[in-house]
Amino acid sequence: MDTDEAPESFVFVGERLWLDFVNSDDAARNRKGTRLDALDAFDTFVQWLSSARILDAERASAMLKRAQQQPTGASAALHEARRIRNVLRALAERGGAPAERATQVAIGEINRILGRSAGTRRVEPRSDGGFTRNFVTVGDVFAGLLIPIIESAADALVSGELVRVRRCADSRCSRVFFDGSRNGKRRWCEMATCGNRAKAARHRRKVKLNVNG
Ligand SMILES: [Zn+2]
Repeated sequence: MDTDEAPESFVFVGERLWLDFVNSDDAARNRKGTRLDALDAFDTFVQWLSSARILDAERASAMLKRAQQQPTGASAALHEARRIRNVLRALAERGGAPAERATQVAIGEINRILGRSAGTRRVEPRSDGGFTRNFVTVGDVFAGLLIPIIESAADALVSGELVRVRRCADSRCSRVFFDGSRNGKRRWCEMATCGNRAKAARHRRKVKLNVNG
């Protein structure tokens, strides 16, 4: 990627891992406002997983090395990630309505991925002094990549918090997020972008009204 075009970092505004994953088709915008899909390439997917703290630096570089050795496996994993993302978007956008079909499809996919996962869960120290919970797969190295994301989606179903999952109020923006605000009135993915745009538009309308009135 051209360095001028490259965004500084990925944006995580979903408040839940699975929602950030759904938003990974708009994971960053460069200065020109061009959107970056984190699932455009396997390498970018791994970078996104590192930023999301699903992979630590060591595992991320091991994963990239594996991808070079097994390009077919890596591209299959990327393909699956994109498919799962579509399924999870449908689940996120049901907006708490009883969209049985989207929910059933999602549950099917969640169970399929949980079912084939074999590995160990480990708590490990992070370089910044904190701790992280890792899932270390046995067998297919790529198979485990989606597990933490799928578990996050499963948590949303189990805890019944789908009613608080919303899509950004800006119609040009498709980001979704968990509304954890006390009054349940969060409207935008980010104040810095979509929220401010709405505020500016409101201000322009007000100025125009004052001029005309
Ligand atoms: Zn937005």
